[in-house]
Amino acid sequence: MAARHLLDSWEELKTDLADRSLYLFLDYDGTLSPIVRDPGRAILSLRMKRRLERLVRAGRCRIAVISGRALPDIRDRVGIAGIVYGGNHGLEVEGAGVTYRCPVPFTARRALDDVRGKLEKALSPVPGVFLEDKGLSLTVHFRKAKRAELPVVERAVEEAASPYRIPGGIDVRPGKEVFELRPFIAWNKGKTVLWLLEEGTAGGEALVPVCVGDDRTDEDAFRAVRDRGVTVFVGAPRQTKARYYLRNVGEVAEFLGRLARI
Ligand SMILES: [Mg+2]
Repeated sequence: MAARHLLDSWEELKTDLADRSLYLFLDYDGTLSPIVRDPGRAILSLRMKRRLERLVRAGRCRIAVISGRALPDIRDRVGIAGIVYGGNHGLEVEGAGVTYRCPVPFTARRALDDVRGKLEKALSPVPGVFLEDKGLSLTVHFRKAKRAELPVVERAVEEAASPYRIPGGIDVRPGKEVFELRPFIAWNKGKTVLWLLEEGTAGGEALVPVCVGDDRTDEDAFRAVRDRGVTVFVGAPRQTKARYYLRNVGEVAEFLGRLARI
């Protein structure tokens, strides 16, 4: 079933959500902040920050921001107390009284070290490509590289990672102008969302998950909660499991503003 535009469906959705407690799961890059050439410059706009703060203050919903970035990076970029932060797609979670560290096998850590060394060597001559070491994972950014260099990048990643692409080793995931190399374990954004929902619900009423994201890793979350919550893809909704879509970060801000006013 094709995703529907969320703002067009707002009246109906608003009625559904009006007296429910929500758990908002938000991605960062491409969702709360526009994708920029230099990921170091992806800052949260004041407008978005105010909306998030307002939602936290209203106390009607819990909020988690789960990103592929390292935990300290995502926490500093949003910088609002009372929000749960998930780094490395949920391998590390902290904030609002919640702490979780996914056990990452030693074999995966060692494999990441080895692959990092190999990729540093193989990719340093390629202009516009850089490695981001996020502790529990590694990102190869090629947004600034010439298109003609992409096969070189792909081959280097393939060669470095191939000995380890087994459970307990390393999983390679393509993203938006990146390759993500992360532990090959049964944990992802979807599992993180389910874990947080359960944790947040303990002893209380059921929370309705609202998941918003723009990339492949977000599809794990959409699949996990599609039948029990609101799933929102950000961007042109070509291939997504989400029920709704928003066109861009500006529409996400509009949505968060409307949620705060319910
Ligand atoms: Mg994203």
